Amino acid sequence: MSRSAHPAGPRHADVLPEGHYSGPPADLNALDAKVWSRTVSRNEDGAVTVGGIDVATLAEEFGTPGYFLDEADFRARCRDWREAFGPGADVFYAGKAFLSRAVVRWLHEEGLNLDVCSAGELATALSVGMPAERIAYHGNNKSVAEIERAIEAGVGRIVLDSFQEIVRVAHVAERLGKRQPVQIRVTVGVEAHTHEFIATAHEDQKFGIALAGGEAAEAVRRALKLDGLELVGIHSHIGSQIFDMAGFEVSARRVVGLLAEVRDEHGVELPEIDLGGGLGIAYTSEDDPSEPHQIAKSLHEIVGRECEAAGLRTPRISVEPGRAIVGPTAFTLYEVGTLKPLEGLRTYVSVDGGMSDNIRTALYDAEYSVALVSRTSEAEPMLVRVVGKHCESGDIVVRDAFLPADLAPGDLIAVPATGAYCRSMASNYNHALRPPVVAVADGGARVIVRRETEEDLLRLDVG
Ligand SMILES: *Cc1c(COP(=O)(O)O)cnc(C)c1O
Repeated sequence: MSRSAHPAGPRHADVLPEGHYSGPPADLNALDAKVWSRTVSRNEDGAVTVGGIDVATLAEEFGTPGYFLDEADFRARCRDWREAFGPGADVFYAGKAFLSRAVVRWLHEEGLNLDVCSAGELATALSVGMPAERIAYHGNNKSVAEIERAIEAGVGRIVLDSFQEIVRVAHVAERLGKRQPVQIRVTVGVEAHTHEFIATAHEDQKFGIALAGGEAAEAVRRALKLDGLELVGIHSHIGSQIFDMAGFEVSARRVVGLLAEVRDEHGVELPEIDLGGGLGIAYTSEDDPSEPHQIAKSLHEIVGRECEAAGLRTPRISVEPGRAIVGPTAFTLYEVGTLKPLEGLRTYVSVDGGMSDNIRTALYDAEYSVALVSRTSEAEPMLVRVVGKHCESGDIVVRDAFLPADLAPGDLIAVPATGAYCRSMASNYNHALRPPVVAVADGGARVIVRRETEEDLLRLDVG
């Protein structure tokens, strides 16, 4: 059976899950600006370029698979967020989405702050001179060593996640002769999902202290009594890949309610409110994320309105986008290795990476798009599943997508919007060597995280 004898077309839509986009795009060669970074386009030969460099050149110089990050796009997104929120608010980039020393430098230069949630992330940030006061330290189980390290470094805030931690951080700060600025992370009974939010009566999750049942109010009471702590605000993070502001609306209202309670009980107006991250991005053409200025406008309005109603001064707002900044800035470049056409179903396209460089599809059922990037093609669309080279049938990178039916081994394909939670969650499964991150800008490309080598693997294995 040859692939050309079996051009997969729209009739294959019936094997796609319900609610999924139902057919091939009008033009397989088109690059939807929603899912590709800003400097991506095709040159006159039909090859995709980023930062002015074509993918064949990138593949030759840096190999595949690789993450190619559009530095101009990253910086532009930082500026968009900063400008949207203005000088009266703070934007903390969530380092867990993707952190490297180059990224820390860019954040510093573009005026963003940084969220970390481990000693490793803190060390990365401090190693290139990120001012500690612009760093917030998160996590539901920070070790005493991590707390000491953070306080000694002078981080701008530690976000307290539990009753034990209130005491633990206060104790360490007192021992070090410091008064540590902290926020308390509360769970507001709102769980946001991609296209909806769910009000949860009981807070069945590991993070934070529940507003319900007066738990958060009790946490504030305890924190205000401890000399080692300077309670500066309340923190709430409701989920990830959120498109709808309704969840933030409920969350802000409830957090402001707590601020009013605190004022009534203690005569203190806490100066900060952090609404977390979780803003969605476009992984496929179906997704329609809001722009930072729209998000900033609604969050400022919501908080302003609620504070006015409660007779409170409006606190300083902060937000913590991770995915929304770095996600759209990178694509993963793969070389096609083998093709397995299944009559009446789909064609499996195997690439030289997989779940070791993008676990999100297997882990969260995440959707991605994919394009042939080394050339254009006028062939019919065929329904494909892009899979990796790992020993696992769940090793799927893109579950359902269309690629040209003349796709062949050696072609380069790229999966856009892989800047967030791909390299940062990459593994050595099957002793895969984690791919490099290459920053591309103004016709130049440089490795910012190099590809692992067999030596790297063997160095940890002491025999
Ligand atoms: C994960 C996380 C973020 C960032 O989430 P994104 O979906 O990447 O925007 C922000 N704040 C906290 C507390 C988080 O845990």
